[in-house]
Amino acid sequence: MPKKIIAGNWKMFKTNPEAVRLVKQLNQKLKRSPAKKSSVVIFPPFTALSKVSDELKGSKIETGAQNLFWEEEGAYTGEVSAKMIKSTGAKWVIIGHSERRQYFKEEEKIINRKIKIALLNKLKVIFCVGETLEMREQNLTKDIVINQVEWGLKGLLPEHLKNLVIAYEPVWAIGTGKTATPKQAQEIHALIRDILVPLFNEKTSRNMTILYGGSVKPNNAAGLFAQKDIDGALVGGACLKADSFYRIIKAGEKSF
Ligand code: PEP
Repeated sequence: MPKKIIAGNWKMFKTNPEAVRLVKQLNQKLKRSPAKKSSVVIFPPFTALSKVSDELKGSKIETGAQNLFWEEEGAYTGEVSAKMIKSTGAKWVIIGHSERRQYFKEEEKIINRKIKIALLNKLKVIFCVGETLEMREQNLTKDIVINQVEWGLKGLLPEHLKNLVIAYEPVWAIGTGKTATPKQAQEIHALIRDILVPLFNEKTSRNMTILYGGSVKPNNAAGLFAQKDIDGALVGGACLKADSFYRIIKAGEKSF
């Protein structure tokens, strides 16, 4: 069975005091009523990663970074390495998010290098894939997703994938309030699971956690989580308030 995960991507939001306030509120709610069926991971900005990770010591909530650089270290002004991320107490990193692909021109080869350096340093990875609206309208969704998965995972072995989760995030649904219907999302999740068989093997495909991301809210989460191949969510906007993120976690408790 794939592990169920509810992840919150804070993007470029929250100063350090705001980050600590948010994580305290979330932690309190989860202490009162813990998530038993899913793991909860949050991705604060780099600047708050140490503080938030410290705040969560002893809790079950894990932390991760929203990006990393593909080299171990060096003269790369402004970049952050896998080891630096690990030293904050974070265990995860998001790679291939559509905002990085769009604004920072991250392409498949770069994403593949980032995935490799993260796994080499024992960081767990959420690897994001998904089509733009234009691609969907041209009926290219499946080709695009297959290409992204093949490129992103090039050179990896089945054992590496134990520390990797895939997030299907249709770009047209991110931050737009337009969610993919459970049926649309399920169709692509099943496709991703199918293509992992020839790329790796049956077991890797069966055990892969595949998250959905794109305007997941408390009122649509249960419908998505009820789908056979949807193993949780990567949440953006709705994770910036403890209450809405917590309600999505609770939707998972009912549906998984
Ligand atoms: C995201 O940032 O990965 C995301 C899915 O954002 P939102 O939930 O706001 O669409």
